[in-house]
Amino acid sequence: MGSVQIVTTILAFAITAVAVGLAVRAVMKMVAVIRLGQPDPTRFGDKGARTKTMLAETAGHTRMLRWSVVGAAHWFVMVGFIVLSLLVLEAYFEVVSPTGGLPLVGDWALYGLVTEWLAILGIVSILVLIAIRLRNRPTRPGGKSRFTGSTMWQGYFVEGIILAVLIMGFVIRGFKVATDHFEYPVWAAPLSHAVGGLLPDWDAGVSIAALIKIVISMTWLIVIALNVTMGVAWHRFLAFFNIFFKRDPGANVSGLGALRPMTSQGKPLDFEEADPEKDQFGVAQVEQFTWKGLLDFSTCTECGRCQSQCPAWNTGKPLSPKLLVLSLRDHAYAKAPYLLAGGGKDLTGEEKATAAQLAHMDVLALAEAEKPLIGTAEEGGIIDPDVLWSCTTCGACVEQCPVDIEHVDHIVDMRRYQVLIESSFPSEAGVMLRNLENKGNPWGAPQNTREDWTKGLDFEVPRVGEVDDFEYLFWVGCAGAFEDRAKKTTRAVATLLNEAGVSFAILGEGETCSGDPARRIGNEFVFQMLAQQNVETLNEAFEGREKSKRKIVATCPHCFNTLGNEYGQLGGEFEVVHHTQLLAHLVATGKLTPVQPVDGGVTYHDPCYLGRHNRVFAPPREVLGSAIAGEAGQGDGGLIEMPRNSERSFCCGAGGARMWMEEKIGKRINVDRVEEAMSTGARTVAVGCPFCSTMLNDGVNGKGAGEQVEVVDVASVLLRSVKPEQAPGDTERASVAG
Ligand code: SF4
Ligand code: SF4
Repeated sequence: MGSVQIVTTILAFAITAVAVGLAVRAVMKMVAVIRLGQPDPTRFGDKGARTKTMLAETAGHTRMLRWSVVGAAHWFVMVGFIVLSLLVLEAYFEVVSPTGGLPLVGDWALYGLVTEWLAILGIVSILVLIAIRLRNRPTRPGGKSRFTGSTMWQGYFVEGIILAVLIMGFVIRGFKVATDHFEYPVWAAPLSHAVGGLLPDWDAGVSIAALIKIVISMTWLIVIALNVTMGVAWHRFLAFFNIFFKRDPGANVSGLGALRPMTSQGKPLDFEEADPEKDQFGVAQVEQFTWKGLLDFSTCTECGRCQSQCPAWNTGKPLSPKLLVLSLRDHAYAKAPYLLAGGGKDLTGEEKATAAQLAHMDVLALAEAEKPLIGTAEEGGIIDPDVLWSCTTCGACVEQCPVDIEHVDHIVDMRRYQVLIESSFPSEAGVMLRNLENKGNPWGAPQNTREDWTKGLDFEVPRVGEVDDFEYLFWVGCAGAFEDRAKKTTRAVATLLNEAGVSFAILGEGETCSGDPARRIGNEFVFQMLAQQNVETLNEAFEGREKSKRKIVATCPHCFNTLGNEYGQLGGEFEVVHHTQLLAHLVATGKLTPVQPVDGGVTYHDPCYLGRHNRVFAPPREVLGSAIAGEAGQGDGGLIEMPRNSERSFCCGAGGARMWMEEKIGKRINVDRVEEAMSTGARTVAVGCPFCSTMLNDGVNGKGAGEQVEVVDVASVLLRSVKPEQAPGDTERASVAG
């Protein structure tokens, strides 16, 4: 070993010892913080499916590849990071000797070939990612950036380090070529040979370049070890765990559909026995999230995909799902020293630490602990109430997140505490909650008007109990029973089912609100009250039937989601379909035949709780396609898609109980969506949800465009095509009966 190699070896191992020591300390700190969360025993089942999904999402980049260029570039950088870690390891042999290399594989031309090309593609990919970050930088003139609020220096730092490490790999190989110590032929390592042609025949060059590579790599490790909230770097390790422990490992997207049940100490809360002094009601302190919640916050890469799709953020509201996650992450880590030293409030609000313990506590952590989780900037709050209440629970953030963060569950958990314990929520929503408790529907309409929509139909609508057998229970929903426009959809669906010879029955006055608005606003108590009542009624209606024969058809995606995905949490197992699914089936099997083509162009707005939350994208399009074509396909063209459609559809603004809250900040979400719909030039905007119908109709009327554009349910479009003479007009303003 020459004198140069003695120095390079000592320096390489010294900086490595420091970096590894700091990294171990950082990992221990991170694990300790995540363990502060509440238990969640549901995350450990079905390890086979979890492993499969984790491998598919990481190795296959199944979610990232939807952003094709970024996804492909990120894939090469990820693979490069894993495989080229071997080259960093190799550098430790090269600081010791200029002829050093990895044992066993180091001499293989195949190893040389694979690493050479991964490094080349890695350099190209990281340059692409840097260019994308620069092009989308928040400071660029005009336009919105998904990186607004991200810690930009961290992104550039991580990308710069990767680029530098990859370049140093070629410099090391180049010196080996120049000094005739390189094993791989030109065909296996063309770039290395080309670089070698530019470098001098200098033996020390290999070891010095290897030392520089190690110093760069260890600087990265030291920086991230000193910044445990640097998600842009830590996600390389945490993403595997976050994906493995996601809520629904078998689902296409985890954290959509059903909400996570309200739990205390890892057990679902039963309101008949729950005691707010002993049981946790939602989340009031950051440590009251589960450990998986804290892992979610730690894993955020700050990529801003969620932010770029969020309807609240895109219309000027203060909510960004990314900034919400980052605020919770930074707060958790800043408060952690206080919690780890024994601090914290019990459920009655009493401090757990003794005065002696508090006296020795980190003052910054102590100050952080005093901040309310929900509060305005003046109150020092971590999450502003306007942020919390701006969410429509549309799920666009969850859909987009490449590391499977479950934003909606976290937002609703915070709402639960605000509603159930603090009684703090937008006051206008109080009327809706009172109506739900007293009248069983959000509008407060009299229960005995639930069947009024059946009046004037030229056939009898049977009630459960009056008929011996029925195939489908038609769940009408509150909007479908009380809201004038939605009543037309209900009548259209009933007419089409009758026309197709489907046997169905309604609950009539036995039906009550599914509980969706109560649950999404955070009032789990009212939700459980309504849901238990409905589950009892439905179980009675289906008595003696196996699950596959307990079929329900619903016109409201919120009811569809709640009955199908959430009632199981309360002992109600049903096969629930949305009316567009059933209608698509009836058209496909020839039970309904569209004859009259729909002209003037049709576009379709995907309701969040039908599309994103439940993956029903094709059936409404199939129904509309058949109606547009009419008999013998003579219609004037296909469906015109909006720029944001299907998985990336834009919310109408009504979900998450926002239907019953005023929209005081920014641009109205429904107006934004209506402008997009109108930009297609379509005369008809088809919807599959009564709330979307109301919101988009309001948007169209607000723009004074009622003469040019009509918002109408898919069922009504089909009815006009199947029975043009019977289809009801749909141009009146919506209003609520009763
Ligand atoms: S659920 Fe929708 S509105 Fe709520 S934060 Fe996510 S993207 Fe925004
Ligand atoms: S999409 Fe996920 S990882 Fe990206 S910023 Fe949003 S929460 Fe973080």
